[in-house]
Amino acid sequence: MKAAVLYGKKNIKIEEVDLPANQDNIMIKIAACGICISDVKAYQEGQSHYFKPPIILGHEYVGSIVKISKKNEDFKKGDRVAVIHAVNCGYCSYCQKGLFELCENKQRASNGGFAEYVSINEKFAKIALLKIPDKLSTNEATFLEPIACCIEALEKCKIKLGDTIVIIGAGVMGLLLLQLSLLKGASKVIVSEINEYRRNIAKSLGATVVNPEEIDLKKFITKETCSEGVDVAITTVFKEYIIKECFLFTRKQGTVFIFGSAIKNPDLLINSDKIHYDQINIMGSSAYKPFHFSIALKLLKENRLSVTPLITSVEPLKNIKKALDNYIKPENLKIIIRM
Ligand SMILES: [Zn+2]
Ligand SMILES: [Zn+2]
Repeated sequence: MKAAVLYGKKNIKIEEVDLPANQDNIMIKIAACGICISDVKAYQEGQSHYFKPPIILGHEYVGSIVKISKKNEDFKKGDRVAVIHAVNCGYCSYCQKGLFELCENKQRASNGGFAEYVSINEKFAKIALLKIPDKLSTNEATFLEPIACCIEALEKCKIKLGDTIVIIGAGVMGLLLLQLSLLKGASKVIVSEINEYRRNIAKSLGATVVNPEEIDLKKFITKETCSEGVDVAITTVFKEYIIKECFLFTRKQGTVFIFGSAIKNPDLLINSDKIHYDQINIMGSSAYKPFHFSIALKLLKENRLSVTPLITSVEPLKNIKKALDNYIKPENLKIIIRM
């Protein structure tokens, strides 16, 4: 099969590789795989948080079942499915507590989604596969994983009716967090973004937008919240000064939430008075619980989330290097690779 294999820093090649082995497995022909910022970071660094090269990246993919045992009662050949690429084990101490996103023995599909096929162990089918309804397009369905990650984050933030939220950065995740915050009952979601194109999309999706290069963010938020400060500040970009700034406009007992991961230096120096006296919570998350995929699917199916405006290009697999190089340009949001 054809696959994009990452060998090291910015070294990715389209190659002919062996089909995933193991005759008992379910085989899925991948139709599309979204590029995630974590794929871009892995491409730039030559490795990821989880893997060393050579590796086939991609975890936001959908496809159709081309091989499955006739005995499987839940799925059949031809079913269009989304794949949960990393499935929790169910028995580690975190799984026992229901903290599936922290599972220490995540089982991953045979390879990443920037390939023609992937195989899934038959015994994980129930947990790893989701049938995609006809009304949902393949491109839309590639958003299930990023939406699931955002649902995990927002459940941790405990947004309440009438809350005011600030989201720093209107990339794909910022724009999904914006829509989900509004669904959760936030009365106002302020999106801070320097790029006009991204700001305009945020505005069209219901945000109060601000360009922090033109307007002092703290002053803007003070005015917008009648001096109270926001209930939750979510940073989708990891920059120390941005996270520190969030403590200046988050109300007492509010939450500063780190959603974006650091590329290089993750150290962060913060004023402990904000935690001790003002009782501001500092939290973060990555990944999802498997059931967040089903919630994401329901929200997409019922048109409660709008993902089509977040797709800026759809590229064939052969263009993956260019797509990874261009992903961080502000005029690009989600880039989807079609096999
Ligand atoms: Zn992702
Ligand atoms: Zn586990």
